[in-house]
Amino acid sequence: MVVVMESAAAEEAKRAVINRLEDYGFETHVSTGVHKTIIGAIGVKADFDTREIAVMNGVADVYRVTDPFKLASRNFHVDSTTVKIKDVEIGGDAVAMMIGPCSVESEEQVFELADVVAKSGAKILRGGAFKPRSSPYSFQGMGEEGLKLLRAAADKHNLLVITEVMQIGQIDLVAKYADILQIGARNMQNFALLKEIGASKVPAMLKRGLAATIEEWLMSAEYILSQGNKDVILCERGIRTFEKYTRNTFDLSAIPVVHKKSHLPVVADPSHATGFRDQVPPMARAAVAAGADGLMIEIHGDPSKALSDGPQSLYPQDYLTLVEELRVIAKAIGRKICC
Ligand code: PEP
Ligand code: MN
Repeated sequence: MVVVMESAAAEEAKRAVINRLEDYGFETHVSTGVHKTIIGAIGVKADFDTREIAVMNGVADVYRVTDPFKLASRNFHVDSTTVKIKDVEIGGDAVAMMIGPCSVESEEQVFELADVVAKSGAKILRGGAFKPRSSPYSFQGMGEEGLKLLRAAADKHNLLVITEVMQIGQIDLVAKYADILQIGARNMQNFALLKEIGASKVPAMLKRGLAATIEEWLMSAEYILSQGNKDVILCERGIRTFEKYTRNTFDLSAIPVVHKKSHLPVVADPSHATGFRDQVPPMARAAVAAGADGLMIEIHGDPSKALSDGPQSLYPQDYLTLVEELRVIAKAIGRKICC
């Protein structure tokens, strides 16, 4: 941590800051320039609140030079993490495709879409059985019945299942049917849920919160990792901004930033990030070009009748065309799609 003192700071103010830092257990190094004094503090603890120093007399600025997350940080884990589940790797050379409907709606629907997923070469079937809807009057998901359908449709093609778990009480049930637990954007800072998913050791995909900074997102990943679960995947799904022509704003730059800051794989979800079908393929292509380790995309056989997120769901044929385009882009950057 670096503390910059105001030019006019009195000697007693500087002394007080040094004493306070030493009381906190930091080793201090003082550099006195012509105008400013800079105090370097070594040994900053992950949870240290820099405001404790920022509010002191004579302090101009305080900068952290180390990240508050440790287990998620690339500084402490230089090699990229690959999450391996059965024969699927997320974070390796292949861009993992997590494809399926927003919600599981019926046996016919989920089996039809699982056929499309398998045909494309994708290895992971997505679908919500417990749905976090903005309105309590909207379809809330099929619950366990939906989980059973998802599992059966996936097993027909030897696919993995990713599905959302919304509450602590659902973890065991969802883990019985799913290979990856999805933590939705609205739950990114549900710390009690994150800890329990950490303790469960079931692979988890953590979506970025609607208004979360990348640092907050990585701190949430830290909650899961800190309980001993190393199989954590991040997912950029768009953030809330003032823009009205998209449902959310797809933060494409989060992909290289996460890769720089963290060793964890990062997946992009252009469906929720844009909210409109015509915007999904361009953003999916961009995400692969930007280095995403996976894509989560919603598809539906008859989107106008979908019980949730029809307007952002791709028709199966358009999805299959997109996968062929993605193969070209992936190849150009030394990767491949799915397998
Ligand atoms: C979903 O994937 O269906 C979903 C609800 O996503 P998010 O949490 O990103 O809104
Ligand atoms: Mn959805």
